[in-house]
Amino acid sequence: MSQKDVIITRYRIIEKQRVTRDTSRFRFALPPNIDFKFLPGDHIKIYPDRNNPLEFRPYTPTNTPDIKDYFELIIKHYPNGKVSGYMKERGLGDDVAVSGPDKGGHFEDGMAKKIGMVAGGTGITPMISMVRSILSRKLDVEVFLLFANKTIDDIILKEEFDKYAEKYDNFDLYYVLDKGPEGWPMGEGRITKDLMNEKLFGPSDDTVIFVCGPPMMQINLKKQLMELGHPGEKVIFP
Ligand SMILES: Cc1cc2nc3c(=O)[nH]c(=O)nc-3n(C[C@H](O)[C@H](O)[C@H](O)COP(=O)(O)OP(=O)(O)OC[C@H]3O[C@@H](n4cnc5c(N)ncnc54)[C@H](O)[C@@H]3O)c2cc1C
Repeated sequence: MSQKDVIITRYRIIEKQRVTRDTSRFRFALPPNIDFKFLPGDHIKIYPDRNNPLEFRPYTPTNTPDIKDYFELIIKHYPNGKVSGYMKERGLGDDVAVSGPDKGGHFEDGMAKKIGMVAGGTGITPMISMVRSILSRKLDVEVFLLFANKTIDDIILKEEFDKYAEKYDNFDLYYVLDKGPEGWPMGEGRITKDLMNEKLFGPSDDTVIFVCGPPMMQINLKKQLMELGHPGEKVIFP
C-alpha cells in the first residue's frame, strides 16, 4: 500500500494531561469494532490535515497492547513543530487523524531473557509500553533501563519507573542527567560506552538492547554497543 492509499481513521481524545514541562499524554478512545493490533515499540502516524496523507509524524503508543478501549501517546512539544504544535492545540473531545499501527522494532514474547533499554528524552515512549507489558504479565525477562534527560524534571514517568524498580526484582534503572540536582545519586553527562558496559547486560544469545532517542544518539550508541560485542541485529531501534 502506498502512502497515498493509507487508511486514515479519526480517533477522539478522551484525556489530556501534562507529563513534564514540554510533554503531554493523550488518551484516544478506540471504538469496539476497530482492529488496532500492535506490539510494544510499534507506532502510529498522525496527520494534521486528514486530506493530505503525505504529511504525518510517527508516535509510539505507551499503553500495553492488551488494552482494547483506548490507546495512549506521550508527545513532546517542539517550538515551531508542525505536528507537535498541532497536537498542543488539541484537547478533550477533538478528533485526530491517525493511521496504523505500523511495525517498528518491537518487543515480542520469547525474543530475549535479558533486555537492555537505552532511551533519550521522548525516546522512552516505546520502552514504556515494553516495560509495562513485561512487568504486568510477570514475564521471565530481566530489564535494565538507561534513561538520559536534561534535568530531573524532564524524566517522563519517573514516579512510575521508580516504583517498578522498587517493586520488581527483574527491573532496574539508571538515570543520566545533563546536570543533576544537589546530591544526585545517579549519572551526569552523556550515556557513554563505559556506562553501557557497566550497566547493561553483556552480549549473549538471550540479550537484546533497544535504543531510542535522537537519530545521532541512536547511531552512535549502536556503534558503541557493537564495539562491546552486541551483534547489530540484537541492537534494535523501535
Ligand atoms: C518511529 C518514531 C516514533 C516516534 N514516537 C514519538 C513519540 O512517541 N513521542 C514524541 O514526542 N515523538 C515521537 N517521535 C518524533 C515525532 O515523530 C516528530 O518527529 C516530533 O513530534 C517533531 O515533529 P514536529 O512536526 O512537531 O516538528 P517538525 O515540524 O518536524 O520540526 C520542528 C522543529 O523541531 C525540531 N525537532 C523535530 N524533531 C526533533 C527531535 N526528535 N529532537 C530535536 N529536535 C527536533 C526540528 O529540528 C525543527 O527545528 C517519533 C519518531 C519516530 C521516527
